[in-house]
Amino acid sequence: MLREETVFGPIFSRRLGTSLGINLLPEKGKFCNFDCIYCECGWNRDGRGDTTLPSAEKVRHDLSNKLQDLYADNVKVDSITFSGDGEPTLNPDFPQIIDDTLRLRDQYAPTAKVSVLSNATRVHLPEVFAALVRVDNPIMKIDAPTNALVAKINNPAPGYDVARVVEALRQFQGNFILQWCLLRSPDFDSTSNDVVLPMLDIIRLLHPREVMAYTIDRPTPAQNLSKVSPDEMRRLLQPIIDEGFQVQIKG
Ligand code: SF4
Repeated sequence: MLREETVFGPIFSRRLGTSLGINLLPEKGKFCNFDCIYCECGWNRDGRGDTTLPSAEKVRHDLSNKLQDLYADNVKVDSITFSGDGEPTLNPDFPQIIDDTLRLRDQYAPTAKVSVLSNATRVHLPEVFAALVRVDNPIMKIDAPTNALVAKINNPAPGYDVARVVEALRQFQGNFILQWCLLRSPDFDSTSNDVVLPMLDIIRLLHPREVMAYTIDRPTPAQNLSKVSPDEMRRLLQPIIDEGFQVQIKG
């Protein structure tokens, strides 16, 4: 499922409410430095038809028009969400686009939260971190505690190192949201102790202000994946819930 527009929606998001989406990736393709087995956009190899990334000017223009229309129609949005067909921080205009979005939000939708869904691979870059730290909800993905399991779930581009990502995320000093997708395949099980216990340790170390635990919801490019039930996720995360962490579970 590829979004065809730079600004799309609003759509209802099970995690964010009424959400206006911004796709900083190609309109007719996918562009990501991960290739997750559960990606709703499909495999990277099937999304290479279009490699044009929208400029800051185009995003500003499209977002301004959409927000003005929604304002005129009295439609309230809960979130302006950077998601789309790939990793938004790969767009070289990302810092400028965040500045423009915050300004337009203040002007036309002051109660909306600006959220960025990211795979956290570029948080170590100063200009990317400086942009992410300005938004209301930087939502950063870690799906596995080891490079070997990240390779199975996320298929990252060469050079990925989960320890480096964790180190980069420490810069937030806890003021971010950690998203963790739990699932099963014939090859691994996110609910096994050797995954869950080190993931809980990463959460304790980073102390995010919220943990979003979720599972697959739509058709996935890889076959034979299965969901983890909300009850099971709650049981697995109960130790950190008991320690006072804010945990949102979406089945
Ligand atoms: S990081 Fe997101 S966009 Fe990229 S492959 Fe994974 S799920 Fe898809």
